[in-house]
Amino acid sequence: MTAQSKLENLKVEALSKMQAASSSQALYNVKVEFLGKNGLLTEIMKEMASLSKEEKPAFGKSVNEVKQALEQAYEGFETALKAKEIEEKMNSEEVDLTLPGFTRPRGSVHPVHLVINEIYSIMSRLGYAIRQGPLIELDSYNFEALNIPADHPARDMQDTFFIDKTHVLRTHTSPIQIHSLESEKPPLRIIGTGAVFRCDSDISHLPHFHQIEGMCVDRKVSMGDLKGTISFFVKEFFGGDLKTRFRPSFFPFTEPSAEVDCTCPICKGKGCSMCKHTGWIEIGGCGLINPKVLAHAQVKYPEWQGFAFGFGIERMAIIKYGVDDIRLFPENDLRFLRQFEM
Ligand SMILES: [Zn+2]
Repeated sequence: MTAQSKLENLKVEALSKMQAASSSQALYNVKVEFLGKNGLLTEIMKEMASLSKEEKPAFGKSVNEVKQALEQAYEGFETALKAKEIEEKMNSEEVDLTLPGFTRPRGSVHPVHLVINEIYSIMSRLGYAIRQGPLIELDSYNFEALNIPADHPARDMQDTFFIDKTHVLRTHTSPIQIHSLESEKPPLRIIGTGAVFRCDSDISHLPHFHQIEGMCVDRKVSMGDLKGTISFFVKEFFGGDLKTRFRPSFFPFTEPSAEVDCTCPICKGKGCSMCKHTGWIEIGGCGLINPKVLAHAQVKYPEWQGFAFGFGIERMAIIKYGVDDIRLFPENDLRFLRQFEM
């Protein structure tokens, strides 16, 4: 049998097999058998070797023609088979429109973010803008710029996660104040918020928690302005006519400094386990910005003066929602989180 007639036979055989294929998969198998990389058409090319120099081009041309004809035939059969398969599928399946749909579980806002959102909403009414900063800070932003000298206990390895000699995981949100003082022009009113990190973990401390930071820089700023701002905030946040008091304290970045207490929102000052029966509850620290901090950020004092305050978000959530263990917040136990669904 000549190479040419072998090729003719192959074409006839392929076409009849394609026609007989009952599914698109079977049809594809025929395609692979004849037109595949190691298929019969490739195989027949070996016949070339036995042909004369004059016969070779004609044979090559015929092979190409057969290949094209088979590919065309394949496409035609494939379209018809696929259409048939879809129709069969549609006929065999029924859609019951009365079946109930899939319900997806609905998430809710984490209590830490409920508190952050509420603080934003209260402070924005006083003209405060939201700022954020990096979690990894230069040592100088986390400490030096905030007037925390090298021998201050807050720098102790016990409290700070050091990344290398010059970088730390920020231990408070106060570096946000410095970024703002450096990049924006006073007067400034900003709220900074986010995660902070300390080498600490027990029933009332987490190694990873959240803070909120407020700063106001203007021509004339007093402790009275600070007290008024915090009193407003406490009443709005906890609700009711709660009192606020300042206790003298020390922070390197404020002078004078104070701890902020408010009437215990749980017992309204009568005394309970949350306030250790004192009727007062500590919510954070505050003070007038230390002129050294302003000077470090090239802000002229006393032309510009300011106050700053900071609260622990988890602590605010504990007081507001009566949670007794701070470690519940990062656990993400749905039984706990579902209680905060709106
Ligand atoms: Zn109380």
